[in-house]
Amino acid sequence: MKTVTILGSTGSIGRQTLEVVENLGLKVVALTANNNVELLKEQEAKFKPDITAISSEPGGADKLIDIAENSGADIIVTAIAGTAGLEPTLAACKTGKRIALANKEPLVCAGEQVMQTAKAHGTEIIPVDSEHSAIFQCLHSKVGKDKKIKKILLTASGGPFRKMSRKQLETVTAEDALKHPTWNMGQKITIDSATLMNKGLELIEAMHLFNVPPEQIEVVVHPESIVHSMVEFQDGSIIAQLSHPDMRMPIQYALTYPERVQSLTKSLDITQIGKLTFEKPDLERFPCLALAYEAAKLGQNECSALNKANEQAVELFLQNKIGFYDISNMIQTAIS
Ligand code: NAD
Ligand code: MG
Repeated sequence: MKTVTILGSTGSIGRQTLEVVENLGLKVVALTANNNVELLKEQEAKFKPDITAISSEPGGADKLIDIAENSGADIIVTAIAGTAGLEPTLAACKTGKRIALANKEPLVCAGEQVMQTAKAHGTEIIPVDSEHSAIFQCLHSKVGKDKKIKKILLTASGGPFRKMSRKQLETVTAEDALKHPTWNMGQKITIDSATLMNKGLELIEAMHLFNVPPEQIEVVVHPESIVHSMVEFQDGSIIAQLSHPDMRMPIQYALTYPERVQSLTKSLDITQIGKLTFEKPDLERFPCLALAYEAAKLGQNECSALNKANEQAVELFLQNKIGFYDISNMIQTAIS
């Protein structure tokens, strides 16, 4: 039986991972949370891990790093929100085991270091982010000698403000953004989805995971969120991965890969969906995505500046202290 450690088990990804773990009957070795003591206690009673950590408690941060590196689990799920997950991710990279990677910010701010540390220790990184799981799956169809792909088509739901004008966007609030159309996620990624910065972070995440330059990654808005991303090969053939939008599917795949087993996601009736639509993203209304392309082309320092400025701007936006376009303005300043 495979064993699992979950860093950030009380969050959106962490809770859904536990649903999958229960469904698969896997053993939980360790669980960690930042400050949701109550939920962690409930999870502890149900899943009986050998060890837990609350990182906001004295000594908790060190305990978290120790768990990431030394829990002994076969799979470490990185489900911490934001750059706070960098050190635990780097620690998990040293295990020589498998990382089921949900926490994307460490790849954005230190992608080379994360990938190199994992490689040096023989640690396998399997993406959990739905788009990257899709790309990972599409790449399996590549078995010949030619390892080059033509491009990655990274899909985006477009977020809750997809149809709003620039003028309307000037006055939107965090509360408006938290009503996301497709996915039920943590606060930071929900705001990132509304600004399209989530797609910008995912662009940089994809560069590192799949070793592809930003010029070969095209963002495509696909409001139905049924196609989770696509890969175009040299002959012009495009392979896509489709399913209902349900994070438990890519989480499970990262746990069971290369096997596919029955999941909690209901099967997709394509005739009921009827049609799938695709459009280009509007970089004028959503400058965060343009900034991410710019940073991706410039290099690691600019990506790191973009990531940190975004994290702090999102925090201010959540507190209603700044407006929608202040987020991109602050990131622009940080990159400059
Ligand atoms: P969340 O806010 O719901 O949960 C975050 C978890 O991290 C919680 O368990 C929290 O206790 C812990 N945490 C927060 N701050 C911490 C700190 N300083 N130190 C240690 N632990 C801390 O977030 P989420 O939506 O589950 O997202 C987690 C990660 O997965 C993010 O990087 C996000 O981009 C990525 N992701 C999420 C989704 C989704 O559907 N939610 C999809 C794809 C990728
Ligand atoms: Mg995603």
